[in-house]
Amino acid sequence: MKKRILIIGSLNMDMIIEMKRMPAIGETVLGDNLSYIPGGKGANQAYAAGRLGGDVAMLGCVGDDNMGEKLVCNIAGSGADASFIMKTENIPTGTAVIYVNEKGDNSIVVISGANNACNVEYLKQNDNLIQESDYVMVQMEIPLETIMYGIRRAKELNKTVILNPAPAPNPKTLPEDIFENIDYITPNETELIMLSGQTKISPENIREGARILLEKGVPNVLVTLGEKGTLYISRQMEALYPARKVEAVDTTAAGDCFNGAFVTALSEGKSVKEAVIFANCASSIAVTRKGAQSSIPDRKEVEDILK
Ligand code: ADP
Repeated sequence: MKKRILIIGSLNMDMIIEMKRMPAIGETVLGDNLSYIPGGKGANQAYAAGRLGGDVAMLGCVGDDNMGEKLVCNIAGSGADASFIMKTENIPTGTAVIYVNEKGDNSIVVISGANNACNVEYLKQNDNLIQESDYVMVQMEIPLETIMYGIRRAKELNKTVILNPAPAPNPKTLPEDIFENIDYITPNETELIMLSGQTKISPENIREGARILLEKGVPNVLVTLGEKGTLYISRQMEALYPARKVEAVDTTAAGDCFNGAFVTALSEGKSVKEAVIFANCASSIAVTRKGAQSSIPDRKEVEDILK
């Protein structure tokens, strides 16, 4: 039987501005294209879980504006329950302004906006939702206090807790008990290296980083390695699940698609191995398309490849 998933996290509108070259300070350049693409790590993960067939609800905040409305509609369109997302007055919806030049390099400014209103009080008001969920997934784009409350409360209620530690937090700012309250942690290579207090990415440091997180109390570490796939390390085993070979055009939200797909598969009773294979496949499709939520495949696309 399908279990229930709750995703607590951010919603952002990605405003993508394409141009030949980035402006220097004080300079004006003409851009080539402007597009608005729904994003935010929490929203992307909820959207992915919804589209891939998960029984998922989202907790997060948008502004009481057009962008917020669009983000909420998009999540609802994926099949995820967006009805608990809060609209806040006088704060704009979270926005990421992304400059992309013709070489594909980008510069990004993120305005957290309404994501900062995703506070402990709001989680307390929605405690029923935490109680009714089986899997609770969080990332790091809402206030740390809210993240910690969500993680501790979910664990207290015996839920399976998944942390996608992105964007990479400074480990010194994290309360020590965060790790013992998490069942699965899903960093990419950079996030793992930062989180484990190391500086250089190397195969040895990745293993060392995973070992450090296991020692701190996380029983399952899943390191996403981009085109190399996903490394799973627990106290009992270590396995590399390779990625499917594809022509990647845009890796935005690859990790979010991976996380949404992974929790969906776990919620259906799949093993960690099966869930990683499912998630690797879903995210390998996402990287062949542009954008964040716009790149995420539906269930049938993934199953057609896996069968
Ligand atoms: P993030 O987007 O958080 O940086 P990764 O780049 O590690 O995360 O990607 C997450 C997952 O997406 C990988 O584990 C892999 O399954 C898939 N993926 C990413 N890039 C590629 C690629 N070039 N080819 C195939 N799969 C990919």
